[in-house]
Amino acid sequence: MYAVAVDLGATNVRAIVGDKNGTIVGRARAETPQGPTAAAITQAVLDVVRDACRDAALNPSSVVGAGIGSMGAIDRATGTVAISSNLGAGTDASTGSNPGSGTGFELDPIPLVDPLANLIESDSVVLLNDTLAGAIGEHHHTYPDIDSSVYLTLSSGIGAGVISNGIPLLGTDGNAGEVGHMTIDAAGRLPCGCGAAGHWEAYCSGNNIPALARLLSEADKNDGTPVETTLPLKSESLTAKQIFEHAGSDLFATRVVDRIAELNVLGMGNLINAYAPDVVSVGGAVALNNPSLVIDPICERIESQLVVHTPEIVCSDLGEQAVLYGALRCAFTGKIEP
Ligand SMILES: [Zn+2]
Repeated sequence: MYAVAVDLGATNVRAIVGDKNGTIVGRARAETPQGPTAAAITQAVLDVVRDACRDAALNPSSVVGAGIGSMGAIDRATGTVAISSNLGAGTDASTGSNPGSGTGFELDPIPLVDPLANLIESDSVVLLNDTLAGAIGEHHHTYPDIDSSVYLTLSSGIGAGVISNGIPLLGTDGNAGEVGHMTIDAAGRLPCGCGAAGHWEAYCSGNNIPALARLLSEADKNDGTPVETTLPLKSESLTAKQIFEHAGSDLFATRVVDRIAELNVLGMGNLINAYAPDVVSVGGAVALNNPSLVIDPICERIESQLVVHTPEIVCSDLGEQAVLYGALRCAFTGKIEP
């Protein structure tokens, strides 16, 4: 008996076909279309599911259910997702880089549940937010005995899925966990893709780390401190990946990475104080590609921020597969549960 799981992200659509134990028998992946219509994205999801089923040598109608972990603002009542500002920003979540300038655009809500139900000829299709799917994936496969855990993604955006005393926190419409939009800079020096300013994601997501670097270099200039760096600060092509690669050898890049750590400690401190988890597993390209520069400094500095038990903070064991494994779990249970 097999089910299909989908991870709809700003950069890629991935699908797997697997059994109840998490044994994967088929996979497929495609770039997420950057519009021009909601229907194009629905079509891409259906194509990737067909490809994953073909890879598993199965007909889509033979899978018993589907789970979809999606970016954006989901609407469980209608089975649709409204895309976030991440899509259309020219992002590259696989590297946490930002070749674009964040010119997001709006599409109509993207139908997901009904079209997928038609394709697999089953009403058992579960739609949930991608970070909650990541939390369920990690809980089920890595921490089955731990009741309270958080999955935090540091990627082209920042978000979290929370399981508290065994209960996944859904919130209205299933959109709890938008921790990337917690304010960490009351002065609001950097604008966030959501339209507000001073949010964690505006400083520390893969898309926005270059803006943080420019902010710091401006501050240095205003202080009369010459900025000596080999980073192409003035170029639109500056990426988070370049900044992490230069840390250690370039003094300014090292300073940016240290500032990211300071800000991540504020965001993580808020998150842990709010939910008191036993474990925080951190995924997303920014963390997965740079664990010693991103996760280790948080572990070293977090204690002073906490009024609750200090949880274990670890790199996600499932890595880029966490969302898919969680969605697969939900595809079998037909519910959003760990
Ligand atoms: Zn925001």
